[in-house]
Amino acid sequence: MRTVIVGAGPAGISAAAELAKRKPWEEIIMLSEDEFPYSRCMLHQYLSGERKEQQLSFTEADFMERRDINFRGKVKVSSVDIGKNRVLTDKGPVEYDKLLLAAGAAYTLPPVPNFRNAKNVYGFRDLKDAKAIKEACISAKRVLIVGSGLVGMDVAYALLSYPLDITVVEMASRILPLQTDEVCARRYQTLFENAGIHFRLGVGASDTVMDAEDNIREVILSDGSSVPCDVIVAAAGVRPRVSILGNADIFVNRGIQVDDYMRTSCPNVYAAGDITGLSGIWPNAMEQGRIAAVNMAGGCEAYTDRFCTKNTSNFFGLPMLSVGSVGADGDNYTVLTQETPRLYKKLILRDDYVIGALFQGDLAGTGIWQYLIKNKIDVSKVEKSLFQISIADFHCFDEDARKSRLESVVKLI
Ligand SMILES: Cc1cc2nc3c(=O)[nH]c(=O)nc-3n(C[C@H](O)[C@H](O)[C@H](O)COP(=O)(O)OP(=O)(O)OC[C@H]3O[C@@H](n4cnc5c(N)ncnc54)[C@H](O)[C@@H]3O)c2cc1C
Repeated sequence: MRTVIVGAGPAGISAAAELAKRKPWEEIIMLSEDEFPYSRCMLHQYLSGERKEQQLSFTEADFMERRDINFRGKVKVSSVDIGKNRVLTDKGPVEYDKLLLAAGAAYTLPPVPNFRNAKNVYGFRDLKDAKAIKEACISAKRVLIVGSGLVGMDVAYALLSYPLDITVVEMASRILPLQTDEVCARRYQTLFENAGIHFRLGVGASDTVMDAEDNIREVILSDGSSVPCDVIVAAAGVRPRVSILGNADIFVNRGIQVDDYMRTSCPNVYAAGDITGLSGIWPNAMEQGRIAAVNMAGGCEAYTDRFCTKNTSNFFGLPMLSVGSVGADGDNYTVLTQETPRLYKKLILRDDYVIGALFQGDLAGTGIWQYLIKNKIDVSKVEKSLFQISIADFHCFDEDARKSRLESVVKLI
């Protein structure tokens, strides 16, 4: 029996580890465009010069050998031939009995004139993007970052180590609009501004001025103003890399559609990670990969994390955790906050359930919020401040025991 895994990100790697554990005798082939498995979350540290290329790896050096995984890097999959149970690659076809598609996502360029054809517009998803930006920034003076989500702000933070004039353009009224609220975003914005970064909020890039060498020299914003630039980094969205399917008859919604067991619409073909469009974060990709592997190996485990998003960041030594719906506001919600100059805590409740948690400054003991939100625990019986509930109340990691302990603590307090 041969399993082929496409992708060596967290989804592919955790799937390979689980498969090798459950069925060590089966042949596992891993195909990846990446030369070696590396963490995209650390790419900004490569860009800033904090890490070298080899320090981006997130697996042990002998990960593949120890598990007898046939890793084939620098291989590009172009399509899946379902009729013949094989994937087509630039190095020839590879047959499978079971297939896991874990090729992640690709950045998208906003629909601004010339963004697609200009030579100085970059995305930030792969190591090759980080290398290209690094190279371009050696001779550049002015960088424009379009989008202030986590990727855009990672790039801005990394480029602080270059002698550059940096501007961030964001259509929303605050930076990190999906992960923060006004208070939290404002604190980060002030730190970035103190470090010299300029922000243009509430406006979008709408047009460009090109030079004779096909470089964009100026970006015109929706309010009619313009920003001169030598390098543009587009950090305004990603989409699941469903292009690897070619014409394969596999159901695609936003990403490759999977059921709770990470099965696609095609027998023996599974998908996990960003390519499914279920979420765009590392821990979820790992968990989806693991669950896909359990089911590919004949087990039966469902993925239940579909509706809980979690983001963490740390800029200028100020950490932030954002879980669930942190921007929810209005009559249907109860919002609790605690604020000091360095700390900010916010909980959003609908009826008797916490649906969002935002912490900035001190993340100690915040692990509990993802659990409460994900498992929709009724907190109406809690009589002391919700901010005092702590993960320290839960001393073991067994899910059932943890759950019953949590429920009893919630009832007691
Ligand atoms: C700059 C940046 C910062 C991030 N920061 C965070 C963070 O702080 N926290 C967090 O939780 N998440 C973060 N993320 C998101 C996180 O990295 C992704 O959710 C995660 O990597 C998804 O894992 P994956 O295995 O699905 O895909 P990926 O990690 O994208 O891996 C995809 C794999 O598929 C391979 N591949 C793609 N196309 C082909 C092809 N045609 N043929 C063969 N192989 C192919 C690639 O080479 C790669 O090995 C960040 C992402 C970026 C880009």
